[in-house]
Amino acid sequence: MNNDEALQLFERAGALLRGHFKLSSGLHSAEYLEKFRLVERPDLLEPMCEELARRFASAGVEIVLGPTTAGIILAYNVARILGVEARYAEQEAGERKLRRGQELRKGARVLVVDDILTTGGAVRECIEVVQRHGAVLVGVGVLGDRSGGAIDFGVHLEAVLEVKVEAFTQEECPMCREGMPINQPGTRGLAV
Ligand SMILES: [Zn+2]
Repeated sequence: MNNDEALQLFERAGALLRGHFKLSSGLHSAEYLEKFRLVERPDLLEPMCEELARRFASAGVEIVLGPTTAGIILAYNVARILGVEARYAEQEAGERKLRRGQELRKGARVLVVDDILTTGGAVRECIEVVQRHGAVLVGVGVLGDRSGGAIDFGVHLEAVLEVKVEAFTQEECPMCREGMPINQPGTRGLAV
């Protein structure tokens, strides 16, 4: 699956929103990736998980680890396709942990997966989980990378979709200049 095909899947799912958005960074943008439109569509998510699994098929992955919330669905699915086990990192007291008796064997080869790479916070927390357990991080796989290649985990990174989301300060935002109403993603009533 190439980047254009991945973009079509995002668009078909309605996961690539166009309008005028205030990002969590406070910056304004004309585009926003809403991961939950993807996880609502197993038919569109499946080929993307297959693509991630394909890219790590020869990496000797033993465990696929994903962060709550949507990362659980991805970790489960990619692990199922690779024929390996999955683990899920949950937040507890400001830290991400394996809970509910989940274990990670020392030396196990772990692939970390997540939905959309923005600042990389959740992926970094998963990498810390891998390191705390003495396991081996073999790579990071995401559905969408909107960081513009700015994030380096020090390990092989694969993104099914790479998209450069341009962001502006309020002062230099062209949509603000046109007087376009702004939406805060994660709330209801998004313009598309
Ligand atoms: Zn604006």
